[in-house]
Amino acid sequence: MGSLYELSREELGEALSGEAPYRLEQLWRALWREDRTVAEMTTLPRVVRERLGAEYPSGLSPINEVVSDGGATIKWVFALHDGATIETVLMSYADRVTVCVSSQAGCAMGCSFCATGQAGFRRHLSVGEVLEQVSYAARAGAPRRLSNVVFMGMGEPLANYEVTVRALRRLHQERGMSARHLTVSSVGVAPAIERLSEEGLALTLAVSLHAANDADRDALVPLNRRYDLARLETACRAWIERTGRRLSFEWALIDGINDTNAALGELADYARGLGAHVNLIPLNPTPGFLVRGSRPERVRAFRDGLLARGVNATVRDTRGRSIAAACGQLASVSGGRHGLRAPESTRVALRARA
Ligand code: SAH
Ligand code: SF4
Repeated sequence: MGSLYELSREELGEALSGEAPYRLEQLWRALWREDRTVAEMTTLPRVVRERLGAEYPSGLSPINEVVSDGGATIKWVFALHDGATIETVLMSYADRVTVCVSSQAGCAMGCSFCATGQAGFRRHLSVGEVLEQVSYAARAGAPRRLSNVVFMGMGEPLANYEVTVRALRRLHQERGMSARHLTVSSVGVAPAIERLSEEGLALTLAVSLHAANDADRDALVPLNRRYDLARLETACRAWIERTGRRLSFEWALIDGINDTNAALGELADYARGLGAHVNLIPLNPTPGFLVRGSRPERVRAFRDGLLARGVNATVRDTRGRSIAAACGQLASVSGGRHGLRAPESTRVALRARA
């Protein structure tokens, strides 16, 4: 049971057994080129649509939609078939339209500053649940074409490895997206990064670093106690050598913790050794972490300090902050123990999407 996005092309053919062979192409186009819901697949006869709709129901039920940045950012909360909830964010920029997808309902990694981590783990998503988020967002973003998919929503994509890789392959092969427009963000599951480097996918890998000494990283990112910075460096090196792709590090700037000059020096050394780009994210507020994000002047000075030390660095915008859709703020209305909600003033009624 699950949506049509659970199925490979071959399995779609089996789902259509008894129908004329050209129906497969029509169904495939409707799914992968036109982002149609089953009800909208008007190239297919009504009986076929009804049967497919009953056998392969959508796996996502939207329960909330919040819009901000003048319509350029939309966050959805979806309920899955078993009541677990996830979030998906669509961000439109001048030059690209990006969807940020969840790979798990919740996350087991327990990073202290992240709302998803604070809420705990519920379950892995299926490949169809990941891909349907993309298609749903693409429909909402039309007529602009969805250009990028980032696995930076709820969950650790490399802890749901098989599903993540299958989803990436389908986005590349079926949806026709360039692998470099696909980004996986990982907290640093070293063996999985090495395995990913052997998949033949020239995607973009972002590693969430946040501290470049083991004592601080142990405190911020508990997984560091299992795969420390030296082990992570080995995996990053393997990624670079095997894929020929650059790597980027994410660093959420936390006031007085990892925005000091000592932290700057450690990060510069670690990143320079790997030729990595650094993406600075001013820490977004979450209910379970009381330390503030760095002030804007410090964020700029930190970036300049990296540049002066020969490390490429940019500051990520804080899209979606007012609707709790920014990095690390995704926890869902009923997803975890905290039951976080976006501020009432910014919530809007869910648009009907029958
Ligand atoms: N689990 C993966 C992907 C999801 S988190 C990972 O950790 O990389 C996406 C990004 O948001 C990560 O870089 C994460 O470190 C960052 N993040 C988490 N909490 C944040 C917060 N409160 N403010 C800013 N960024 C945060
Ligand atoms: Fe999980 Fe990433 Fe949040 Fe850490 S930062 S708890 S790995 S979602």
